[in-house]
Amino acid sequence: MNVDGTASESASIGIDIGGTKALGVVLTRDGRILAEEKRPTPKNGVGIIECAFALFESLAGKVGNDINIEGLGVGIAGLVDNKGQLRRAPNLVDADGLELGRSLEPLVGVPVYVDNDANCAARAEIATGAARNVEQALLVTLGTGIGGALISEGTVVRGADGMAGEPGHMMVNPAGPTCACGMRGCWESYASGTGLTNLATQSASEGRLTAIAEQLEGKTEEITGEQVTSAARQGDEEAIQVIDTYSWWIAVGLANCAGLLDPEIIILGGGLIEEWDLFGPRVRTAFDKLLIGADQRETVRIEPAAAGESAGAIGAAMLAAARTTN
Ligand SMILES: [Zn+2]
Repeated sequence: MNVDGTASESASIGIDIGGTKALGVVLTRDGRILAEEKRPTPKNGVGIIECAFALFESLAGKVGNDINIEGLGVGIAGLVDNKGQLRRAPNLVDADGLELGRSLEPLVGVPVYVDNDANCAARAEIATGAARNVEQALLVTLGTGIGGALISEGTVVRGADGMAGEPGHMMVNPAGPTCACGMRGCWESYASGTGLTNLATQSASEGRLTAIAEQLEGKTEEITGEQVTSAARQGDEEAIQVIDTYSWWIAVGLANCAGLLDPEIIILGGGLIEEWDLFGPRVRTAFDKLLIGADQRETVRIEPAAAGESAGAIGAAMLAAARTTN
């Protein structure tokens, strides 16, 4: 703190509200993370506002009076329009129509800016990560659902209503399972983190994944993605088959998107990139078989998000910083 009692440095808080967890960071203007915190995402709109406010207060408390918090950016999983209103959120219950900015501003006392979570992650990747100095890129986050952001000429493409870049609900199997959005056979039912659990549960119900099923004493509905990745790492052939199938489904959607967009790079984010060594090479192999004219193109790079699973929160803080300084 300065001798006159004023804060010596300015920063923004960014909060990324995913389908399962909410992650917040305090980010200085020069890009340093001063504090970070994670909480489970509540399952309704009122709970989400309370959670975002509690995270803001806790993070502001951690950095103390030395830091002047200028603004709050919130990235949220769902369709966010050009005015920052959450219009449709299949993976968050009772959150459709949520006006996070209007609800949070009187509580936090600083300007609040809201955008889609993957668009926020894209901001972070453009500034300092895998989309730096790239003209055309696609960012896909594999979490509870699938998020997406299109990057063209170094900026996020928003579309007419602000809702561009949502590949998760592309139908990849009209006879597939019902998705959280109400449609059938959406890509995220197969290729999100939840998709891995779905594939594992199905495999176990068909009599495979026997070692894991034994550990669970037959309660195969309790199977988790982590159990499958862990078993695959230990050489369990049936678990490796599930990983192969899952990686193929990721590649199906990525190849469809690449056929449409012809990006230089596809950046994958979300919790699953922690297991990149397991999925990355498999996705690469399947993608090259599925993309039309793959052998005639410059290689489309497929890389994990450089900012890791904090990319969405960092990008949300950057959104607030950009707006408050303009
Ligand atoms: Zn869907």
